[in-house]
Amino acid sequence: MYLESLSLTNFRNYASLDLPFGPGTFILWGDNAQGKSNLLEAVYLLATTKSVRASNERELIGWGAMDDPLPAARVTGELSRGGERTRLDVGLVAEKSEVGDEISFSLRKQTRVNGVPRRASDVMGTLNAVLFDPQDVDLVTGPPSSRRRYLDVTISQMNRDYLKALQRYTRILTQRNHLLRAIREGTSQSSQLRVWDAPLIEEAVHIHLTRRRMLEEMAGASTVIYGELTGSEESFALRYLPNPRELRGISEDASEIGEVIRERLSANVDREIGQGVTVVGPHRDDVQFEVGGRDASLYGSRGQQRTVVAALKLAEVKLLESNTGEDPVLLLDDILSELDETRRRRVLQTVLRSEQTILTTTDLDRIDERLRTRARLIRVEGGSLVF
Ligand code: ATP
Ligand code: MG
Repeated sequence: MYLESLSLTNFRNYASLDLPFGPGTFILWGDNAQGKSNLLEAVYLLATTKSVRASNERELIGWGAMDDPLPAARVTGELSRGGERTRLDVGLVAEKSEVGDEISFSLRKQTRVNGVPRRASDVMGTLNAVLFDPQDVDLVTGPPSSRRRYLDVTISQMNRDYLKALQRYTRILTQRNHLLRAIREGTSQSSQLRVWDAPLIEEAVHIHLTRRRMLEEMAGASTVIYGELTGSEESFALRYLPNPRELRGISEDASEIGEVIRERLSANVDREIGQGVTVVGPHRDDVQFEVGGRDASLYGSRGQQRTVVAALKLAEVKLLESNTGEDPVLLLDDILSELDETRRRRVLQTVLRSEQTILTTTDLDRIDERLRTRARLIRVEGGSLVF
């Protein structure tokens, strides 16, 4: 699949942009702080409906628009997928309210497919994209939540039911946590927990099984790729660390998995009431990456950690291809300068095979000659593009 065009209005440092795309490789080049990463962020927003970078999505609205009566940003992409065209839209509107001197904003996000409003969970998976970003080593070194987020975005691009299960699980978890606090404060009875446990366990089993199957595929593909990237000098393994840990190694039988979760929930009920939060379940899952049999987050060198991330991302491309039958769009943010020759060559092979790649660099000389001559070069300058 590929983007035919991209339009931005008041998105980050782009006041207005209409960019024709198409199949092939596009190199966005320019000095620091000109808008290269912002453009990739916009494409990734269309794919996942979420920003990879912003802690609050209000940050996406262009500063120049924040004084408008109704500050708004819009990203629109025309997508070609299996010969069919689809228009995707993400709009962000910040509604201002003033109390005394204090101005506060509440953000509304609207997602549309071919002009029809759709929920985020129905938009995910329309445009598939894989983003390589230098920040990605957080995946190895960061907290478990960054690995869960990565897993969730990756699986959701291939499997909409998963995202829906995840959303239901999160809602049930919030209600259950409210109840745990009410029990602690003596305003509710612990027998009421049973109402939430059955639906919670049902969604937990679904999430656990989907993660487990996907990680198995991911482990297979990334181990092979890691070997290719390093010339098989060191072993690599990816391990799913489910919560509760009693789920490790048991069969894929849904009722058995449900029983284990139920048993752990009841064994931890006093602790959960004491803390006022649910401590058992896939919201506490993690993934471990091992290089040479040791945890790469603790013992891996920076270079090894980067190789782990490159192997994961390349495996993600493979998985998306095999599960959706379509090539994802590759977004490479200044990645080629971070990798050594062997790893760069391997990433390059994937780029050369992909249907569409958008990559950024500050230095065109760093880009492989073969790639540069085939690519369309676009210069990025202060939120404008020069062809
Ligand atoms: P680098 O090579 O350093 O990675 P870049 O070209 O990728 O640079 P971007 O991250 O795209 O740079 O950022 C470009 C500019 O956009 C930055 O100066 C940043 O401060 C600015 N910017 C970020 N958010 C907004 C916003 N909401 N409105 C206007 N400008 C913004
Ligand atoms: Mg950048």
